[in-house]
Amino acid sequence: MNLFNIIKQKCSILSIISEYVTLKKTGSYYKGRCPFHSEKTGSFTVSPEKEIFYCFGCQSGGDVISFIAKIENCSQLEAAKIISQKYNIDLPDNQESDFNNLDKFNKKKEYIKTNEIFLKWAQKNLLKSKLAQDYLNKRAINKNSIDLFEIGFVPSGTKNITELISFAKKNNILTSDLIDSKILIEGKHGIYSPFEDRIIFGIKDHLGNLLGFGGRIIKEEDNRAKYYNSHDNQFFNKGSLLFGLDLAKKKIQEKNAVFLVEGYIDTIMMTQNDFLNTVATLGTACTKEHLTQLSRYTQRLYLLYDQDIAGQKAIIRLIESCWQANIDLYVISLPKGEDPASYLEKNNDLKSLILNTKDIFTFYLEYIGSDFDKQSLNQKIISTKKLIDIIFSIDDLLKQDLLLKQASQAFNIPFETLKYELTTKKEDRNNYKVIHEEKQSINNINIHDTSKITQLEKKIFSAIIDYKEAHKSLNIEDTEFLKDWFSLPIKEIFSKMCNNEDLSQEDKTFISKIVIEADNNNSLEELMTEFYKKQWKDLVYNIKLKINQAEKTGNSNLTKTLLAELDLLKKKILKRGIHGQR
Ligand code: ZN
Repeated sequence: MNLFNIIKQKCSILSIISEYVTLKKTGSYYKGRCPFHSEKTGSFTVSPEKEIFYCFGCQSGGDVISFIAKIENCSQLEAAKIISQKYNIDLPDNQESDFNNLDKFNKKKEYIKTNEIFLKWAQKNLLKSKLAQDYLNKRAINKNSIDLFEIGFVPSGTKNITELISFAKKNNILTSDLIDSKILIEGKHGIYSPFEDRIIFGIKDHLGNLLGFGGRIIKEEDNRAKYYNSHDNQFFNKGSLLFGLDLAKKKIQEKNAVFLVEGYIDTIMMTQNDFLNTVATLGTACTKEHLTQLSRYTQRLYLLYDQDIAGQKAIIRLIESCWQANIDLYVISLPKGEDPASYLEKNNDLKSLILNTKDIFTFYLEYIGSDFDKQSLNQKIISTKKLIDIIFSIDDLLKQDLLLKQASQAFNIPFETLKYELTTKKEDRNNYKVIHEEKQSINNINIHDTSKITQLEKKIFSAIIDYKEAHKSLNIEDTEFLKDWFSLPIKEIFSKMCNNEDLSQEDKTFISKIVIEADNNNSLEELMTEFYKKQWKDLVYNIKLKINQAEKTGNSNLTKTLLAELDLLKKKILKRGIHGQR
């Protein structure tokens, strides 16, 4: 059996795709919002039974390996590697060696291992340091959170660095690995770590791979930067990683909401207080990439940012990106000077704040409204346009009108003027959509046109796919009949399958579409009977025509062969319980 089949057999497409997309059961399928294109309704379909996915919006599809290859942006072989590692699938030796050629994957594996050993060492050191423990106590971080978030401490000094190096060596990690991972740095006066004298938080991707660290100073007299984060490298990218996502993602799906905070300790305190669906950016602004990632799990984002000017500005900057990622943005206002961690430390709860959650429109009105009169004309136009953008992003027409009214009062602009702006924007958008969709349909015209394929054809092909190896149990005549009868491109794909050739990504996408469209519940046997019923007349007619011609030309050998063929066909069809009347 080939490698891809081994992997597909041992993992569930539903559980793997659910790591990325929130799926809901509808009939025999699961549906969700497509991770590959921006949409409000779910056109993304997964069939666990048939082990395929297909999106009717952007026409991506395939098996679980195609899914990982597309979403992780890697080859199918690399995708197979990701799945086999994540689900601990043991592969036969020769398959492993295939994988070992994958340089980047081995580098990443080594990098993660180095990080894990370093974190393990730092966790041990936290237990030895009263200073670090006192700090966490002071911040009200409890033992459970220390374990859950694997918090560590990096003591300072040459003696400790030497100890780290020897600990790493015992675990088959070389000093050069620690240096390559930037955990250690070779300075003028010897090797040191930028994480020294800091408690450290491991930063993982959504799959739980440890990719970097954030370190915080703990001594009051320490006047270095409060936080030091791993530098970006080929595996660690602050613009796309979210702290806590690996732990929070299931809860985000369950609650259909996510809390976005600014810091590691905020995330930890939120989680400690039962707001398990919380993540944080890594000391940087929230990017479109962050939002796109979150939008795979939920459409509702609650922001818990500082209420200072910088914080408010950051929220305003997010509006458009959220709109593009189809995320509804809500703002929870903290009292001035508080962050979620400090607030929770005093109040142990956020409920009263959550009651006063503002949708982004109200937040924006308050933000802009207070000094709208003092703004220059140009600023006023920009503010008004932004406001129209926000109202435009709301689906409910009645709500749109109510908001326009509210805005017209707050800004002292006639309702009709605002309404006119909104209508113009809608027309622009529709024109764009028409052009965009035309362009898309031209691009896809030849690849996925299944309109000429009959439903029976789709069902038979789907049944063959369903049994995976069923084309091998089809007898030779059936196979030959089908090879002739199938229309393109099913014909080509079916031939490839019969010859045990590898299927391309495009083949797989096409298969997914056919299988979803077929929505087949019949057995292959039943469908083949139906097939022969339909084909019977044509087949008999054709063979008789050939016999007539052969008789006319006096080719008795051919006549004999054709008669035998007709006989065989009759037997075959009789066996299926169809009566060969014509
Ligand atoms: Zn899609």
